[in-house]
Amino acid sequence: MIEKLRTLAKMQGLDDRIGRYRMLQTELPEQLKDIIDSVDQATANLLAVETERATLTKLQRALETDIKQHTDHINKYSSQLAEIKTNKEYKALNSEIAYLKTKISDVESQLLELMDQDAELKGKAEQCKAELEKVELRKREKEGDLRAQINSLDAKIEETRNKRNNLARTLPEAIIKQYGKLIKNKNNQAVAYNKSGACGGCGIVIRPQIRIEMEQRKKINFCENCGRILMNGFDDLEEVL
Ligand SMILES: [Zn+2]
Repeated sequence: MIEKLRTLAKMQGLDDRIGRYRMLQTELPEQLKDIIDSVDQATANLLAVETERATLTKLQRALETDIKQHTDHINKYSSQLAEIKTNKEYKALNSEIAYLKTKISDVESQLLELMDQDAELKGKAEQCKAELEKVELRKREKEGDLRAQINSLDAKIEETRNKRNNLARTLPEAIIKQYGKLIKNKNNQAVAYNKSGACGGCGIVIRPQIRIEMEQRKKINFCENCGRILMNGFDDLEEVL
């Protein structure tokens, strides 16, 4: 009987492993998606900042053109001043020049503001570039490995299941059926170990009589509460698996 119990414990160990592979089948694609999404996001962020900068540059060019036009006008009017005959015309032209100078001064303040904004955006763009490089590096480092791991999981599950089935074949059919039913219905756990006098599956306290039987390993005990196969753990099982 002790060998049967040991076999059941080994089978549970293999089913635990299959459970971990199944979790990885969910987790690894999520990790991969996160990595790819972060690269997409960083790319979009950088593009947004660069677009904003391009718009700003256009505005700057437009303002510079304004300044140039105003300056050209001022120069033209200034040269006309010498030819002015009447005081009235002189005054009118002078006030036009003064008006243009105010406008230039306004545009120059706007231009300074835009330059400030541009400096800020330049900083942001550098941050975005650094972030993009970081996530791209992570993608280069991890993507291949993750894809390989994901692709290997089916085969690993298959291999582990075969090992478990080979062990199962050494047991009486009734026990195999019971085990399979428990794996299916009890959250992939058919075997529960004695955990300080309680069932490791459901936590209920094990009766003393059953604990003695578990100690003796002469029969298969079942938890009276959750129905799992109840046994004391095998110390040497890890190396077998
Ligand atoms: Zn239980």
